[in-house]
Parts: sequence; C-alpha cells; structure tokens
Amino acid sequence: MSRDRQEEKRPRKRARVDSDDEDPQQQQQQRQKVNGTPLHPGVNGSASNPNTPKKEKPRRYKTMTEHYDTSPTKEVADLDDTFYLSDPSATLYIRCKDTMFKIHERMFTCTEFFQECLEEHGPTSISNPHRMFAPRVEELRAFLWALYATDGQLAEKITEFPHLERVFRIRSMTQKYPDLQRMLEWVNAQIHSVAIDSAFMDSCSSAALAEFTTFVIWYEYVDELALIQKKWCERLWSKSAPSVPAIQAADEYPEELKELRGVAYYVHIQDMMDRQTQFTESGATTSCYWSLSSLWERLRLKPADLPLGASCCDEAHAKCTSTWERRWTSAAGWKRILGINTADALALLSCLQDQLSNDDDLKVINPDCRRAGLDEIKKLREKTKDGLGDHFAGVV
Ligand SMILES: [Zn+2]
Repeated sequence: MSRDRQEEKRPRKRARVDSDDEDPQQQQQQRQKVNGTPLHPGVNGSASNPNTPKKEKPRRYKTMTEHYDTSPTKEVADLDDTFYLSDPSATLYIRCKDTMFKIHERMFTCTEFFQECLEEHGPTSISNPHRMFAPRVEELRAFLWALYATDGQLAEKITEFPHLERVFRIRSMTQKYPDLQRMLEWVNAQIHSVAIDSAFMDSCSSAALAEFTTFVIWYEYVDELALIQKKWCERLWSKSAPSVPAIQAADEYPEELKELRGVAYYVHIQDMMDRQTQFTESGATTSCYWSLSSLWERLRLKPADLPLGASCCDEAHAKCTSTWERRWTSAAGWKRILGINTADALALLSCLQDQLSNDDDLKVINPDCRRAGLDEIKKLREKTKDGLGDHFAGVV
C-alpha cells in the first residue's frame, strides 16, 4: 500500500553547492547560467546578477498554478488516448492525476533523474504505477510526444497554434525537471522561429497572441517578447486585431507591455470616437482619453520651437519664429482640424503638418527654417506614436 502511495522523487538539482532551495526557477537559473543565456533571472532578482531588475511573478501565471491540483480524484485512472501504448514491450506505467500512461521504459531513461526515479520505484504495473505530481496531464503528454517524436517531426515548422501550445507545455516540463537541456534548446529555437514568422503571427487570434505573450513574459524570452509586441501593435494599427483583447493583456502586464498598452488604448479611443459610442466607460479608458486630449491642448496653445535653418541667422530668425507661431495657432483653430477628435493626437499632428506645408503666409519665412519646422512636426508625431506607452505609463 505504501508503494502505491509513493510519490515521485522531487525534481532536484544535482551537485548543488549553494543552497537547499528547491525552487525550480532557481534550478532553471542555475542551468541557464551554465548555458550562458540567462533567460530567467528569477523572481526577485538574482544576487549573482546585479543587472537583473526586481521582478514580481506575472499575475496570470500565479493564478494558473495556484488553482491547479495534481492529486488524483478517481480510484481508477483513465487510459490516455495517445500514450497508453498497446505494444507489449511498453511496460512502464505512469499515473498523472487521473490519467494512466504506458510507455517504453527506454524513453524514460532520457535523464539520470528519471532513471533514478524508476530504480527507486522498481517495476511498475497498472496497480502500482510510477506517479508524477509535478506536471499537468497535458504537459506530460506533450513531453512524451517530444520523447517519441522523430527528428523529422521535431524539425517541422509550426503552422498551427495548438502545436505552439505543445511547445509551451514542454517548456514547462524543462522547468519542472532537471537535465533536459537539449529539449530546452529545441524549445528555445521553436519559440524564436515562431516569433519571427510573420505569416504565422498574422494568423494568430488575439487570444493566441495573449497566450504567447504571457508565455514569453513568464519565461523571459526578451527578444521574442519585443517581436510579438511589435507585431501586435502593427496589427492594431492596421485594424487586423481588435483593441480590447490587447488592452486586457497589456493591463495585466503594464510594465512589460508598455508599448502595446499605449497603442491599444489609443486605437480603442479612436474607434469609440469613430463609432460615436457614448463615452460611458470608466477608469483607464477615460483617463487615457483625457490624457490624450490634454496632449493636443498643450500643443495647440504652445507651438513647437522653430529650429534655426542653415541659411538663417539669429537676428532674422526672431521674425521666422513669430510668423511660425502665429500660423501654427491659426491653423490649430481651422475648421478642418477642429473636425478631428481631440484625443487623436496623431491625426491632429498630420493635419497640422499638412495645413502648414500649404500655408501661403508661412512661405515668406526662410525656406530652411520652414522646412525644419515642418520636419519638427513630423518628428513630434513619430515621437508621440512611439511614446504612446510612456504617455499611458501612469494610468492604472
Ligand atoms: Zn529663420
């Protein structure tokens, strides 16, 4: 009976020298240090790496793990559809929560750790399986898929999201068990190739993007996070992805997804204005709306400084500046600009640039100064666009 209740060995780091801590994250860190790629600096920053910022666990992951109970609920386990092999030479029984797996023992000797587990347990049977408590059933299934996969299967390009989800699960297994370095390398390569695959990323639903984003934040795939965020922003600008799911994801990780957050709120507010939705939303959307409107209010009243053109001089430039400011203030009050919603700072700046480049009264100033001034508006628009995240940084 005690055999039957026996738990798997706790995954642990071999040849530990520093502490008795069993935190799998620290194990990960340890392994990645060896590998030279510190993807995962740990929860509260690592003492060994002074550059690591202090960091909280992403909230969503916390809820994902806290509410998952791996202890069995049934007396008799269900046989797994895929990895309960009928082959008589598959003699290793593994129970994970309420699912029974039966696989070839040689598959499970991939690491010394698993080998030790089996040696400790002795022969397994359906009534005396090796029990695994660390993984979720779907994680173990994904892991077994990877163990049985041929080189050809492992090299296949990912074209569907469920296959990417399988990679996420395998990544989780490499976090929970030691010595799966080769598998981790395979995972890292897969994650990168998907993040740079524009066609795949265009085909992802917002829910898929959110899941991928959560994954790369949690496992600190920094480069891939930047790629995904950039892609998601592009899709928001081109309206090929809706703004609300992006807002939800970005609100969850406002620090990591600052850029996405700025763009998502911006696009969302413009959509609401375009549809003339009654402005009944509260909280962040309203704050963002007012914050954007006040950005334009400031620009409207205070023209950007006119740079000194190459062929101008300080003395003459005072006159350039006063004309520039007068024309700016005038253009900002024109009908065409007043027709644009004040929260759409980017459209307002485009319109202002267009108005001033066609403004006859402005054509009298030094042409170099005029050109520099118009460039200044263009730069201001780009800066505003790139900095939407900063703009919303204080908004909770
Ligand atoms: Zn001038």
